[in-house]
Amino acid sequence: MASLQSLRGMVDLLPEQTPLWQHVEAVTAEHFRRSVVREIRTPLLEVTELFARGIGEATDVVGKEMYTFRDRGERSCTLRPEGTASVVRAAIQHGLLSQGPQRLWYGGPMFRYERPQAGRQRQFHQIGLELLGFADPRSDVEAIAIAWDLLAGLEVGGLALELNTLGSPDDRARYRSELVAWLEAHRDQLDPDSQQRISTNPLRVLDSKVSATQALLEGAPSLADALSGESHERFSRVRQGLEALGIPFTLNPRLVRGLDYYSHTAFEITSSQLGSQATVCGGGRYDGLVQQLGGPPTPAVGWALGMERLVLLLAQRADAAELAPQPVDLYVISRGEAAEAQALPLARLCRQAGLRVELDASGAAFGKQFKRADRSGARHAAVIGEEEAAAGLVTLRALREAGEAASDRRLTPQELLRQLSPDPMTTEDVSTPAGQGRLAGS
Ligand code: ATP
Ligand code: MG
Repeated sequence: MASLQSLRGMVDLLPEQTPLWQHVEAVTAEHFRRSVVREIRTPLLEVTELFARGIGEATDVVGKEMYTFRDRGERSCTLRPEGTASVVRAAIQHGLLSQGPQRLWYGGPMFRYERPQAGRQRQFHQIGLELLGFADPRSDVEAIAIAWDLLAGLEVGGLALELNTLGSPDDRARYRSELVAWLEAHRDQLDPDSQQRISTNPLRVLDSKVSATQALLEGAPSLADALSGESHERFSRVRQGLEALGIPFTLNPRLVRGLDYYSHTAFEITSSQLGSQATVCGGGRYDGLVQQLGGPPTPAVGWALGMERLVLLLAQRADAAELAPQPVDLYVISRGEAAEAQALPLARLCRQAGLRVELDASGAAFGKQFKRADRSGARHAAVIGEEEAAAGLVTLRALREAGEAASDRRLTPQELLRQLSPDPMTTEDVSTPAGQGRLAGS
């Protein structure tokens, strides 16, 4: 029988990959904790209308990328393609907005039916920030700074921040009609996709990846010229805020973002180390969305970051292998019935004390078990043979020391624990690489 495969674009994360993911997740959670941003978790499945209304029918995501199906109750359901609409729905549904501004983050899988390639999958993962109920340009700056500092803190390379403003809904409406008129006049020089977007989503034409279209657009009316004085002023305050923080950025008047709900600030963080899927993080202000989804008028700003692309970047760090060490403290070796009966109790005792303990349950010859102990990277082996078992003792062998320090010691389980267990004073310090400087009395 042919073996079963995962669906195209749905990717397994194997054990050698998960440590890097866990590292990113731990750093992210701590980063949000320091910024007093609270986590929210929403379902993966929502009513289709949420995304149709929240993201916009004319977007690529809703138009052709969603996993939509009818459930057994004949409701149209969609696997979430992004997080913002769900977070806003939940905030409205549970009355969070009446409790004051909300600083929220989320993380988890998203689903889009796209052509899989490096950095682009059908199930992928995002981490996102949503600041709901914040109107001031300083909150745009704070949102961007939180993203920038997270990425910079992870020391990923080649980062660049691109910034634009989409203006107010009024500015956009004015600009939209100007742009549509210009695009209509140049219709026959546009690529087919862009031609179609003239009526569905004209601003997205600016974002076209077709180089002939890009060249043509040099002559198009600019959004900047359509901005009101107030929108200009707002945007300059965002730029000043970033300058004051020393966060470098470039202005990109073409940056419009794929989703419909943005206004004013739009930004992307790209990396030169990612090839064609260069955008790691994208976001901006979406003052109209909460109301559009049935909530009270609520200004908001946020972003979403692609985990796969972030992990690709992190894996390029020279020290990637050391980022998330999973050291084994103790490898338990036993042979013979009485000895084997004592091995698991010893492992449990040591695990309860906080040690990372691997148990060899193979019953193989001592030599083989020692080889595996060595390969595990463990600092110590606990050896229980017939003699030890009869005496209720364990032989502790240091696997990574030489000379005097390497000599075997025969100990009771309690003595062994005292030798190895982490000093309670230093276990608090998560920055200490596990297994270093933590071996009390050794
Ligand atoms: P792209 O232009 O790359 O399709 P997007 O504008 O559709 O991106 P957003 O909806 O803004 O992306 O999502 C934010 C981030 O999520 C992106 O910058 C990217 O890092 C990541 N992302 C989006 N789609 C995918 C995907 N299919 N696979 C992996 N990561 C993705
Ligand atoms: Mg996309």
